[in-house]
Amino acid sequence: MSVKPAFSNRVLIWGEKQGRLGLPWQPADNSDFDIYKVWISEIMLQQTLLSTVLKRFDPFINLFPDVFSLASSKQESVVLAWSGLGFYRRAINLHEASKILCAQKNFKFPKKAADWVKLPGIGYSTAAAISAFTSSERIPILDINVVRVLSRHSLIVNPMSDVRSRAKLFRYAQIIMPHDPNLIPRYSQFIMDIGALICRKEKPLCSKCPVSSDCDAFQQQKVAKVKFRKSKVWKKIKFIWAIEFSGDMIILEYQRTGTLWGGLWTPKRYQEEIDLPKGASFLCSKEFPISNSILLLDIWLVKEISSFDSVKTKSFNLKSLDSIPVPNLLKEVLKEFKLLH
Ligand code: SF4
Repeated sequence: MSVKPAFSNRVLIWGEKQGRLGLPWQPADNSDFDIYKVWISEIMLQQTLLSTVLKRFDPFINLFPDVFSLASSKQESVVLAWSGLGFYRRAINLHEASKILCAQKNFKFPKKAADWVKLPGIGYSTAAAISAFTSSERIPILDINVVRVLSRHSLIVNPMSDVRSRAKLFRYAQIIMPHDPNLIPRYSQFIMDIGALICRKEKPLCSKCPVSSDCDAFQQQKVAKVKFRKSKVWKKIKFIWAIEFSGDMIILEYQRTGTLWGGLWTPKRYQEEIDLPKGASFLCSKEFPISNSILLLDIWLVKEISSFDSVKTKSFNLKSLDSIPVPNLLKEVLKEFKLLH
């Protein structure tokens, strides 16, 4: 494996002009990062686009300005504030992690990625990013954007396919990082930015790339040869929602954590049409991907509220849905069919 000279310098110079600076969790000047804000932003960015995170970040921070306010809040309030970001398990993990941190006798945030990764909802890449930004830890971030840049640059053709390729990429990432810890936060940000803005999955902008002069894939015209994921086997999952309502009232069922829409209130779920209450009428079908599956959701309407006695099932006023953690999909469907104004 050849070591490309001054790779990190070129990344840093490019980033100062074209990197994503001025994000709300970045310090305005050269002062230290706010660890709490970086942590929240990294969890939000795990599975959500930056443009969406930018809309949701400040309102979340206004509600929970520090780790103590987050830990002392009800899980339901945290899940509600997560509305619009999706993948609500992240909000539940965030809340659990805040409680673990605040339960320490002498509170302190972790200093190393190896400690961040012990908290719920934090995998290697997230831990590395938080630690690189907030402690200048010299640790490679291997999120999907960085993996794309480095695997193309070094022509590691199928970097995530096996342990050896991953180890090779990790070693490569370590070699080309700056040695000066002061440069680690900026470098980490900018290498991610190059992946997101320049070395895009489709149609990378190699002519604008600061590291194209020694990018093996580009120089050897093999950019398309570098593969990132094994092709997914999409499993299909089907289930049914029955939206039971009468007048302004709707029946919702609490989904326990660890299940789809865990921590949220959804319409009652059914596996088969035959199980639906009498008088149910078909409304629409929705199809969308969730992790490595396709969810096929048939939605039925029941214009009468059946009896309910479970503590997990409650009736709510339709007008109060904005103050209850419900999937956005439910609100969209209610609006689409003019059941919610
Ligand atoms: S030259 Fe092209 S393929 Fe190589 S790192 Fe830059 S954008 Fe990616």
